[in-house]
Amino acid sequence: MTQPVTLLGATGSIGRSTIDVVRSYPDRFHIHAVAGGSRVSELVDVCREVHPRHVAVADETKLTDLRQALGHAGLSDIQVHAGQQAVADLAADPDTDVVVQAIVGAAGVAPTFAAAQSGKRLLLANKESVVCGGGLLMDAVRRGGAELLPVDSEHNAIFQCLAGATAKARDEARIVLTASGGPFRGRKDLSGITPAEAVRHPKWSMGRKISVDSATLMNKGLEVIEASWLFGFAPERIKVVVHPESIVHSAVEFADGALIAQLGSADMKTPIAYSLGWPERMDGHSKRLSLAEIGTLTFEEPDMITFPLLGMAYDALRAGGAACIILNAANEIAVEAFLAGKIGFTDIFSTVMTMLETMTAADPQSVDEILALDRRARLETRAWLTAR
Ligand code: NAD
Ligand code: MG
Repeated sequence: MTQPVTLLGATGSIGRSTIDVVRSYPDRFHIHAVAGGSRVSELVDVCREVHPRHVAVADETKLTDLRQALGHAGLSDIQVHAGQQAVADLAADPDTDVVVQAIVGAAGVAPTFAAAQSGKRLLLANKESVVCGGGLLMDAVRRGGAELLPVDSEHNAIFQCLAGATAKARDEARIVLTASGGPFRGRKDLSGITPAEAVRHPKWSMGRKISVDSATLMNKGLEVIEASWLFGFAPERIKVVVHPESIVHSAVEFADGALIAQLGSADMKTPIAYSLGWPERMDGHSKRLSLAEIGTLTFEEPDMITFPLLGMAYDALRAGGAACIILNAANEIAVEAFLAGKIGFTDIFSTVMTMLETMTAADPQSVDEILALDRRARLETRAWLTAR
């Protein structure tokens, strides 16, 4: 019997890498269910490749298209579902043990909670759901008896660095979160940047939204918040260092000065395979490192003046759950507008700053309140961008 894996965000960058990893262990895993946002033909391609029992498309209007396309492909035995709720239901499906959550954005909040509450092994790439879910998500993981394994490379590294540390050693440790610096590292003038330039990441091949986040350093800001919740570290115990080679994926500094780091090539298949196999280690997927060949690794302080979103993320983390949700929602809308050519690159900064300064809300106490605040922050951000 092979282990069933449910893959949310199957057509994306992490989704495709997960399919590659799962398919290379046919005696251990099979894909039980897949979900995607709206692109039917890509979902059908995935279905052709992995032949799941279920497929869900989040965009309800695509149900008929998807059913017809699967019929044409000779795949009408696959059960078809549509809508956001259907995606969350797949995450809670009792026929699956492992959920890989690789949806982009706060659209992943409900499925992440569903997997946590139903006690799955949750391989979490969708960092926005940790940023929005915060302490409520960590409670849901504990209460549901889920196993949360971070797939984000930095957090996967920190997870490995903390393995075996006592509670006391953890309490006195600091996280050193590495950042590639993105495509505009070293630049002071960020005017006139086009979407094509912003998504061209020097080290990692990723989806468009996270690529823009890497270019603005918002990705690192979201990751500071993610690390704080996942590992229970206060913001002052998380330090960001720029490391353009992306070989050291992050480190933990212990009280005695020992700095434990995890190194590897820049390939998301490594943290995906680690999380699937944990606590065992499975045979490698990515290129082995030759330290002698690499020769030199470099590190520098992040430029928080030119890239102000990193500092704003620290501020939001200190301010509380509502601020983190507003930060994330404003950023998602601003990035979408930038990618659509409607606003400039640095307008992403001013949009997020304005929404953080002008919106007030109480910290959410339930998943419904998280979702409601996320919706409200999106509407207000859109309204502000239109009125500008
Ligand atoms: P992507 O844009 O390539 O893929 C996103 C996937 O989410 C697609 O399959 C899309 O169909 C799906 N999707 C969108 N809305 C949906 C919805 N409402 N319901 C179901 N599916 C939906 O993005 P990506 O680069 O693969 O990133 C996915 C997540 O992983 C993000 O949160 C990102 O920050 C995180 N992450 C990515 C990388 C990477 O290397 N790509 C690394 C670390 C973390
Ligand atoms: Mg990362």
